Parts: sequence; structure tokens; C-alpha cells
Amino acid sequence: MSQPLTPDAGSLAPIAVAVSRLGVSSRPGERLARHTSFKIGGPAECFVEPQDDQETLAVLEAARDLGAPVLVMGLGSNLLVSDRGFAGLVLSLARAHRQVAVEPGGLLAAGAGVSLAKAAHTAMRHGLSGLEFAVSIPGTVGGAVAMNAGAHGRSTADVVSRVRVWDPCRGAVVLQADEMQYAYRESRLQQEPWVALDAWFHLESASTAAIQDAMRRHMDHRRATQPVGEKNAGSMFKNPPGDFAARLIEAVGAKGWQVGGAGVSTLHANFIANDGTASADDVLTLMRRVRAAVQERFGVALTPEVRWVGPPEGEDGTTWDNLWLPAGGA
Ligand SMILES: Cc1cc2nc3c(=O)[nH]c(=O)nc-3n(C[C@H](O)[C@H](O)[C@H](O)COP(=O)(O)OP(=O)(O)OC[C@H]3O[C@@H](n4cnc5c(N)ncnc54)[C@H](O)[C@@H]3O)c2cc1C
Repeated sequence: MSQPLTPDAGSLAPIAVAVSRLGVSSRPGERLARHTSFKIGGPAECFVEPQDDQETLAVLEAARDLGAPVLVMGLGSNLLVSDRGFAGLVLSLARAHRQVAVEPGGLLAAGAGVSLAKAAHTAMRHGLSGLEFAVSIPGTVGGAVAMNAGAHGRSTADVVSRVRVWDPCRGAVVLQADEMQYAYRESRLQQEPWVALDAWFHLESASTAAIQDAMRRHMDHRRATQPVGEKNAGSMFKNPPGDFAARLIEAVGAKGWQVGGAGVSTLHANFIANDGTASADDVLTLMRRVRAAVQERFGVALTPEVRWVGPPEGEDGTTWDNLWLPAGGA
């Protein structure tokens, strides 16, 4: 079993040393539970919140040159982070890249660290429609562009025009939306070692009142149907084609199932909530039980929507990949 990554000032990881040589402040050993909506996650070898674009690029180049693993995060609202943490650089963009501006031609330009709520409200104030669906998704522009976040029948791919990404081979480049290989909750950013820095959204003119009304309805719907305020990471599983993961999970009677401090929400069956004491392994074990029950009853193999961060193997030797094989090993 691997050991926790305990911070040790006397033996800083090479990436932490390199970041400090750049004059950029970092927090070795920062607990990622402080930065995820699940409030779960062990220490990062080196945690950096860049102040601006220049710092972001310098830190990414240092990690590339050292071959250090990199995790980019926004608001950590779609992440399940191992209790053993992350051995590498964690780059949190939620405090930098926060500029948002309207450009000619109905374009909204937003930094990767801008919250979706702020992007949607800015668009609304300028009478631009298209981002209403995003107002209640608790992530950043960078996370939405990477996850193709969506709600109320719309998704990020419907409104993205282009994205400026950092690519370890080419540096910062602007990619058109059709280069992002968007599909349901998927994008090329999940496959490539790229970091989204900024995005442009193409929006339509509409009345501010109509946009505001749609946003209010979306917020009300969410408050009524999801455990807002609890520690969770949104939908745990993707909807299978033509069906809803929540419907299948509810149908096997899993609402209220509990493993340690993790429980299937009684309000929305595709949510798992942390009561404040859950470990990442509690959540993984519960996910496996739920998935195995759905597989047995309906023959449907659910795939996770939440992204796993950490060592590839679980406490019991399972891996994130074989966790999802038939029967799930629960
Ligand atoms: C209560 C609740 C409700 C939710 N409802 C919805 C919903 O309706 N629809 C929906 O789609 N999702 C929903 N989610 C999930 C989550 O909010 C979205 O997936 C969101 O897009 C994640 O954004 P983030 O900034 O928090 O990204 P993170 O969770 O920090 O990261 C998610 C993934 O994106 C990558 N990433 C983040 N930023 C960048 C970047 N700049 N460049 C490259 N990769 C990056 C990360 O490496 C990671 O793989 C919900 C979550 C919660 C907690």
C-alpha cells in the first residue's frame, strides 16, 4: 500500500524547488480537500495558484522540463481526489485568469478561472444569451471547457467559439471549437496534456429580462432537485444513451445507501454526499456497489462522470479502470 505524501520542508519535491526559484509562491503539502466541492483529497506535492498568465506559463514550463505530473483544477467541483493526494504539481486557476469581457460580434471572452456564474451574469448584463444554462453549474470556464459541462439541454460545446490552450510542445495556441472533439461530457482536453487559459463564447442578442428569467428558473430547478449545500461533486455517473443514471440508481433502491461517511443522496440518486467524514475510498466503494446493482438489474454499465485524481490503485488493489469492469467487484 502506498504511503501518504506527507509534506517535508527538508525534502521538497523538485517541482516545488523549481517553482520557488521562479519566485512564484507555492504550498507544498496543501490538502486538496480544501479545494474540492467533495471536501475530500490528500496533500499535493506542490500546489500553486498563479497570479497571472505569465506565472501560469512559467510554472507549466518548469513542470514540463522536469517531467512532473500536472493536475489543473478550477473549483474542484467534478473531482474525487485520493486521500493519498497527488504526486506532482497542482495548478489551481480559480484565482488567476479572471478577466471577462464582451467583444464585437456577440463574443464573450473569459479567463479559465472565471466562474460560470460570473460569465453567465456578465453575458446577461450585456443582453447576450447562450450561457443561461451554465449559471448554476459550480465550476470555472476552464473546467466547463474541459468537461463540456451542460444542463437544461445545453452544453458548453454549443457556445464555445475558440479556446486558448497551453500545449507542452507548442506553448500557448488558440484552437477552434471543432478541434476540441466535443461529445457528451467529453473533450480533447481530457486526453491531451493541455491547459485551457481562456475561452470565447459566441452568444445571441436577447432581452436582459428574458435571460434573467431563464437563469432564475434554472437556479430554482436546481435548488428543488439537487442537494445544494452538501459536500458532493455533482453527478457521479454519466447518463447512459436514452436514459438517466439517476433513474436507474433510484430503481435499484440505492437512495440512502451509505459506506462510511459517503451516502447516496435521498434527493438525487446520482449524487453522493460526504457527511464530513468520508474518505475517497468510501466514495469509490459506494460507487462500485451502485454500479454493480445497476449492472445486475438492468445490464447497463454506468461510466463515471466525476474525475479521479491520485495513485492509479485503490487500497484493495483495484484501479480506476478495472473498478468499472462488469460486476464492479463490489
Ligand atoms: C452541486 C453540483 C452540481 C453540478 N451540476 C452540474 C451540471 O449540471 N452539469 C455539469 O456538466 N456538471 C455539473 N457539476 C460538475 C462540475 O461543476 C462541472 O464538471 C464543472 O465543469 C467542473 O468545473 P471545475 O472548474 O470545478 O473543474 P474541476 O472539477 O476543478 O476539474 C474538472 C476536470 O477539468 C479539468 N480542468 C479544469 N480546469 C481546466 C483547465 N483550465 N484546463 C484544462 N483542464 C481543466 C481538470 O483537470 C479535471 O479533469 C456539478 C457539480 C456540483 C458539485
